[in-house]
Amino acid sequence: MEIKDYMKQFIDDYYEENEDLRSKKTIELIEHNDFSELSELDILSTGRNVEDMIQVLQEKVYPNRLIGEHPRNFAFIPAPIEEISKLGDLINLMHNPNACGWYPSSGTATIEHSLINWLCQQAGYTEDGTGIFVSGGSTANLTAAIAARDGLLTPEEIPFGVAYISNQAHHSINKALHVVGIPESRIRRIKTDALLKIDPIALEEQIKLDKEKGLKPFIIMATAGTTNAGVIDPLAEIADVAKRNQVWFHVDGAFGASLLLSKSYSHLLKGIEEADSITWDAHKWLFQTYSCAMLLVKHRSSLLNSFSEQPEYLEDAHQADRTDFWDLGIELSRPARGVKLWLTLQTLGTEKIGEQIDAGVKLAEFTQSVIEGNPLFEVITPAQAGIINFRYQKEGLDTETLNHINTKISEKMIATGFSQVITTKLNGMVVLRMCTISPNTTHQDIEETIERLSDFAKDN
Ligand SMILES: *Cc1c(COP(=O)(O)O)cnc(C)c1O
Repeated sequence: MEIKDYMKQFIDDYYEENEDLRSKKTIELIEHNDFSELSELDILSTGRNVEDMIQVLQEKVYPNRLIGEHPRNFAFIPAPIEEISKLGDLINLMHNPNACGWYPSSGTATIEHSLINWLCQQAGYTEDGTGIFVSGGSTANLTAAIAARDGLLTPEEIPFGVAYISNQAHHSINKALHVVGIPESRIRRIKTDALLKIDPIALEEQIKLDKEKGLKPFIIMATAGTTNAGVIDPLAEIADVAKRNQVWFHVDGAFGASLLLSKSYSHLLKGIEEADSITWDAHKWLFQTYSCAMLLVKHRSSLLNSFSEQPEYLEDAHQADRTDFWDLGIELSRPARGVKLWLTLQTLGTEKIGEQIDAGVKLAEFTQSVIEGNPLFEVITPAQAGIINFRYQKEGLDTETLNHINTKISEKMIATGFSQVITTKLNGMVVLRMCTISPNTTHQDIEETIERLSDFAKDN
C-alpha cells in the first residue's frame, strides 16, 4: 500500500472506532508494562514496517488519553470538536502552506486577516483592531504581555514594571509576566469579592500605592470566564481604572470570549471592547482542534511596535490586509490555524454556533438544578459560563475531612471511566467541578453523573 492508501484507511478506521464515544471510558492511562513496551521501541537503522507502526499508534498510543470530546468529559475545559474543524485542519495540513506572510500564502493570509477582522468586530473593536492566530491562550497572553511591556515601559523602566491580576488568573498569566521580565515580587494579586471577581476599588488603591513608591504600573490582566469557576471580572469598571491610570488593559478570554458569539449572553462581556488586547481560544469554546487561538488588539500599531523588524512598518499599516503575520507575533513559519475556524464559521453560520454556546451555559444551569435537588451536595459557585462547582457536605465534618471525601468521590468516578469529574480548590475547599460545554452532552448524561457521584458520596 502507498501512504495515501493508509491515509484513506485511517479515516475509515478512525470513524468506525469513534462512532460511539459514550460507550468508551472517559480516560485510559497507560499501564506500566505498556509504557516500557512503547518507550523502549528503538529507532532502528533499517526502519520498521509502516503498517506495524500505524498499529502501534492506533492500539497502544492514542487509546491512552482523556477523550476530550467524550460527552461526559467535564474536566478542565472539554474539547468538543466540530467535525468540519477536523476537515479544515486536514485540508490545511495536506497543503501545508507557510502562513508566515502574504507572499508565501496569500490565499490563507486573506482569509485569516478577514476572519481576524470579523472577530475584532464581534469584540466591538474599530477598524484599527487586528490580531493573529496563535497556538493557544498561553501564547496569546504572552504576546499581549510583550506588546504591553514594549508599549508602556522603556527598557530602563522594566525593572520597575508592575502587573495586576486576580488570585483566579490562569497560571499562563504568571508565566507570561515572568517571561517579559516581571517577577513574582511585582505581580499584584488583587483580592476578589465573594463572587471571585476582581474588586476594582482595591485594584485602583494598589496602583496608587505602587505609583507612590516610584514603581511603574503597566498592565492589568483580567479574566473573562475563569477556568476555575467561569467568573467574568467587572470589565467595564476595570477598563475605567486602566484608562485613568494609563495602563494596558488585557482580557484573558481564552475560555469565555466565545460568549461574544452568543445572542443571549454576549452582554455579560460588556467592557471588553475597551480592552487593549483580548485572548480568545478557539480550541476551547469554538469547537476547534488544537491548536487554534487568537490574540486580538485594539490598535494594530501595538503589535507592529513589538514584532516588526522593519522600521518602515508604519507604511505597512496602511495596507492592513497585507500585513505579514511575522510582523504581528512571535512566530515565523506557522500553520494557517485560522483556516479550520473560517471553514467552521462559514459552514455552520453564526446562529448555530451561538446556539451551541448557549446550550453549554444552560446545561450548567440544569446541572445546578439537579445538584440543588440532592441533599448530599451543596453548590459552591453557581453555574456561570458553563461551569459549576459543588461539593459533598455534611454537618459536623471539618474542612480537611470534607476535602478528603470530595477528592475520593472524584477518584472513584474517574476509575469507573463513566464521567470525568475532577476537583479544584476554591478558598481552601476541595470542590467538584463540572464544565458542561459539549453540545453532545444530554440531560441524562448529567443526571446519571450526579447520581453516581451521589452513590460514591453515600459510601462515606
Ligand atoms: C485554558 C486557559 C488558558 C491557556 O490556554 P491554552 O490554550 O491552554 O494555552 C489561559 N487562560 C484561561 C482563562 C484559560 O482557561
